[in-house]
Amino acid sequence: MLKSKPKNIALIAHDLKKRSLATWVFNNQTKLKRHNILATATTGGIIQKHCPQLRIRVTKSGPLGGDQQIGAMIADDGIDLLIFFTDPLSPHPHDVDVKALSRLAVVYDVPMACSGATADLIAASGYLD
Ligand code: PGA
Repeated sequence: MLKSKPKNIALIAHDLKKRSLATWVFNNQTKLKRHNILATATTGGIIQKHCPQLRIRVTKSGPLGGDQQIGAMIADDGIDLLIFFTDPLSPHPHDVDVKALSRLAVVYDVPMACSGATADLIAASGYLD
């Protein structure tokens, strides 16, 4: 099968979801490794430890502007997929940034997974093949 060109994939997880996202990436690393992976700083560092063979570029940490950096990339058509494991049960000091990022993903119609079930569906859809 002909492979699609590498996609720009942004990964972000709130603190209590970082382990779930790292597990998801570990389980999907065969599909992910030919794509360009970008992550917020802390999320990226944790994933990198679990998956040393992936090349992960990082932005600033989410609360320090990383979510906004990824939002700006979405506005520049630079992101093809956003995997953003949010924690709806904890307060976040950068809640406005979280909302703005989710909003831009919808404005620009970028596929976005906010939990494992949707991320699994995207991985199974052929979008990453
Ligand atoms: P972090 O940012 O990966 O730097 O923790 C994620 C977030 O937006 O909370």
